[in-house]
Amino acid sequence: MGELKAALITGVTGQDGGYLAKLLLEKGYEVYGLFARRTSDTLWRLRYLGIDSQVKLIEGDLTDVSSIARALEQCRADEVYNLAAQSFVATSWQQPLLTGQVTGMGAANVLEAIRLTNRGIRFYQASSSEMFGKVQHPIQDETTPFYPRSPYAVAKLYAHWLTVNYRESFGLHASSGILFNHESPLRGLEFVTRKVTYAVARIKQGRQQELRLGNIDARRDWGFAGDYVEAMWLMLQQTEGDDYVVATGRNATVREMCEIAFRHVGLRYENHVVIDPALYRPAEVDVLLGNPAKAKARLGWQARLTLNDLIPIMVDADMERVAKE
Ligand code: NDP
Ligand code: GDP
Repeated sequence: MGELKAALITGVTGQDGGYLAKLLLEKGYEVYGLFARRTSDTLWRLRYLGIDSQVKLIEGDLTDVSSIARALEQCRADEVYNLAAQSFVATSWQQPLLTGQVTGMGAANVLEAIRLTNRGIRFYQASSSEMFGKVQHPIQDETTPFYPRSPYAVAKLYAHWLTVNYRESFGLHASSGILFNHESPLRGLEFVTRKVTYAVARIKQGRQQELRLGNIDARRDWGFAGDYVEAMWLMLQQTEGDDYVVATGRNATVREMCEIAFRHVGLRYENHVVIDPALYRPAEVDVLLGNPAKAKARLGWQARLTLNDLIPIMVDADMERVAKE
């Protein structure tokens, strides 16, 4: 038996942070989470997963490089997963500079802290299909040129290329996972799947009547967060760092996703969804569709849950939550 491995997760209180922490704990890791202390209840996801007492929280902020270096020293991490970000596309037009500082420069801070303290640490960067933006090829893989369409995507692109550059410049074991949208009952309420499943539960239980949405003709390649965190871990177990697209290879419109959610509780979306042009984005990503062939061939990874499995699970979880509210 080797020594216990240690991992540091930035963004441990987010959707993916929770699922990844659970996976690593199950694999016997010592799991540390960088925790930006805020006033609201940010530990609810770790509690929901039953792991809040097992994750060791270290106070720190992605914009403060010294706090990251201190965290690395404290936990002696073998692997660092950089999941922290201002992660909501729509907010990135309201707060473009903050998004650049956290989502872009934040990754630079983590990479610098690793370079200066221990170059043996393996690094994962949470890159995004949003980087493909105005898509340059109908099906996107690791060779597809990028065309970001939001301050969020521009910041992610900087972090992505810096990850590639630190691998090439300093020989860091650094990997960039270009993940397509992934959802779960732990998804933030601002994202469209969870906004819909939560509203469906409220409508079904007579708490509200209508649901306001923006562009429901947008298409996304949606998968399950619990599946996607396995791909992150697998990337760091390879001999060398690399870039991988992680997707299901199938997509659907927001409209179709709504149909699945409402139908699951015997409702019709047409009777409740109201289009609100105020929710349109200044520049839209109309369609995303990933080709996960490389992840399958090299990592043996494949998405298990489809949108048809996932949305009913999310609606059921929200039905329970709303009933308790
Ligand atoms: P979440 O928004 O759920 O989580 C983001 C996390 O970042 C939270 O824990 C948040 O903490 C933390 N955070 C924000 N600002 C700071 C800061 N300044 N310092 C330290 N921590 C900070 O995102 P997801 O879990 O959904 O996504 C994980 C990562 O993957 C993100 O980088 C996201 O952009 C990226 N990604 C996600 C996709 C998806 O479909 N989910 C697709 C592709 C990429 P707090 O809770 O305190 O706010
Ligand atoms: P994104 O792909 O990271 O931006 O994930 P989101 O879940 O925020 O948005 C997915 C798609 O749904 C985008 O094309 C949005 O324009 C579209 N959409 C339509 N209505 C809404 C809405 O009310 N909220 C959100 N978040 N997205 C919406």
